[in-house]
Amino acid sequence: MTFTVHGLAVARGIAIGRAVLVASSRVDVAHYFIEHDQINTELLRLRDARDTVRQELQELHDNLAKDAPPELAAILEVHLMLLDDAMLAEGVKHWVSERLYNAEWALSSQLEVVARQFDEMDDAYLRERKGDLEQVVERMLRHLKGHPNAMAIPATRRTGNQQDLLLGDEVDAPLVLVAHDLSPADMLQFKQSVFVGFVTDVGGKTSHTAIVARSLDIPAVVGARTASQLVRQDDWVIIDGDAGVLIVNPSPIILDEYQFKQRQAEVERERLSRLRHTPSLTLDGQKVELLANIEMPDDAPAALHVGAVGVGLFRSEFLFMGREGQLPDEEEQFAAYRRAIEGMKGLPVTIRTVDVGADKPLDRSLKEEASLNPALGLRAIRWSLADPTMFLNQLRAILRAAAFGKVNLLIPMLAHGREIRQTLALLDQARQQLDARGVAYGEVKVGAMIEVPAAALSVRMFLRHFDYLSIGTNDLIQYTLAIDRADEQVAHLYDPLHPAVLRLVADTITAGREVGKPVSVCGEMAGDPSMTRLLLGLGLRSFSMHPTQILAVKQEVIRADANRLAPWAQQVLDADDPAEFLLG
Ligand code: PEP
Ligand code: MG
Repeated sequence: MTFTVHGLAVARGIAIGRAVLVASSRVDVAHYFIEHDQINTELLRLRDARDTVRQELQELHDNLAKDAPPELAAILEVHLMLLDDAMLAEGVKHWVSERLYNAEWALSSQLEVVARQFDEMDDAYLRERKGDLEQVVERMLRHLKGHPNAMAIPATRRTGNQQDLLLGDEVDAPLVLVAHDLSPADMLQFKQSVFVGFVTDVGGKTSHTAIVARSLDIPAVVGARTASQLVRQDDWVIIDGDAGVLIVNPSPIILDEYQFKQRQAEVERERLSRLRHTPSLTLDGQKVELLANIEMPDDAPAALHVGAVGVGLFRSEFLFMGREGQLPDEEEQFAAYRRAIEGMKGLPVTIRTVDVGADKPLDRSLKEEASLNPALGLRAIRWSLADPTMFLNQLRAILRAAAFGKVNLLIPMLAHGREIRQTLALLDQARQQLDARGVAYGEVKVGAMIEVPAAALSVRMFLRHFDYLSIGTNDLIQYTLAIDRADEQVAHLYDPLHPAVLRLVADTITAGREVGKPVSVCGEMAGDPSMTRLLLGLGLRSFSMHPTQILAVKQEVIRADANRLAPWAQQVLDADDPAEFLLG
């Protein structure tokens, strides 16, 4: 039966494929397709893992101390029984032989299927056995990880034949990932993956998970609340990334309609790609700088490909995340920054110092340790200033990389004059340390993000200390309106067009112009083509966004007359309901 689930649209386009349900704790399980002649090898790996776990459990059982509580033996017996559960074994075999999933993926897929059945049981005792099953599977996954398939082929995205979609069991169907939650680092891991679309139950439009999904340039819906409970493993699904809707088990008519939309989107993309070499000038000849936001040095080619004139935001925290607390040292960071700089072939690169915390935990396992109000806690520059040794490592790495190209240093989430002074003093100290070591380093322009209302309201103080400013609208909206940007329950109140937000953005741009210092916007607002005219009218001439958005924004720029937009933008600014004014 067809049904739809509504969420928030975060990355445009239509994806059609089979659902792969992944538990948040198992996203780091390897997902790749095997070749037909590897089926037996994968089945053997599974059998070996199962045999080893059986032996382990049996030994634990046999060696239980005499005074051990009797429940312990009973639990181990249940685990041994679950290990040989026919449904688990048969299902796993199906995923490997029929779908050519690698062993780990097959095992975690079938776990989701069986776990769902446990959830639906009436008997509370049986329902609780789900936890036991998960433990048994985790043990097997650990063994599989220790014995990887030597012949494994890397994950590649296979495109399926859309004509055959309803025929059933073909192997090459595109796959759509459905999960309750994914951290930004998890999402990044899927960059080169087999998945053609993503759906998560939680998350807001500008949550960092959504931001990374957008950078992958594949359709995604977040905040779909119960999607991961309603969708079953292997269901056919359509993601409508424009409307923020997930359609499950579509009828042939619906499928036809969406295949048509998919082709239309392809044509539109093709049309936009012709703007790659068109200069970014308004109709009245004003130059508008279109820069790229990147998460990793390897994103540089995509930025160049769409004609970005530099990187306006390199979110360096992605180098720090998902490493089980082992932070990158100065050398590793230096190498990464240098790679990004060289990747941009002489164009400027803005490296933002680490911004972990809030919805960007260093590690999934550390999430629970965060403060009760992580967005208001030890985040971004506060985290850096709390650990000067770590911060100095990063500053030295950036300064050294600046010897290889034009670098702007950007500091996130500053609010206090005291923080500004501490930051600049540490930057001086980093230079002195490099001088003392006799290591070469380059000049950097130093900028501050304006993403806390306090910063926007004391913008002149910021302009006295910094060479340039970059407005982080994602956080500026979150902190001005007191809306958690990652919480789908309040997503309807997250409003870039709230008069207070527009006032802070406009005043920051004006203050920068008054003293002749550059101001850009690097939040998601900059990459939203429906905001381009307004931002141009407010005087913005530098936009930084995901490479995937650059051409759509350029299309708006070249159609706009910036001079004529200025008085109109002032009217929007003064309106009680700017959104309505824009529509009217
Ligand atoms: C912002 O807050 O707008 C921004 C660009 O930073 P981030 O999204 O990484 O918090
Ligand atoms: Mg921010």
